[in-house]
Amino acid sequence: MPVKRKNRGRTKGQKGSEPVIQCDNCGAFVPRSKVQRVTRRVSLVRGDLARELKSSGAYIAENVITENLCISCAIHYGVLKVRAREERRPTEFV
Ligand SMILES: [Zn+2]
Repeated sequence: MPVKRKNRGRTKGQKGSEPVIQCDNCGAFVPRSKVQRVTRRVSLVRGDLARELKSSGAYIAENVITENLCISCAIHYGVLKVRAREERRPTEFV
C-alpha cells in the first residue's frame, strides 16, 4: 500500500493502540504519538517593562507552558510546515 510517510505520521512503531490526547487549541482527539508538543516560556510582565526591570537587576519569573497540538493546528500556527514529497519520504523507501 502506498503511504505518504514512512512512519505514517506517527511514532508508534509496532505498538498497538495508545491513549488519545485532546488538542489544546481545537479540542480534537489525537493519538499520543501524533500529537505535536510545544513548550514555550511566557512572561507575565509586558516586554518593554520586563526589559527595563531586568536591566535594573530585578528577577522576573516566567511561566513555562506546554501545549499539545493536533497536526492541523500545528501547521496553522507555524510549528510544522508542509514539506515537499522528497523531504518527507526517503527515496529508497518508494
Ligand atoms: Zn487542533
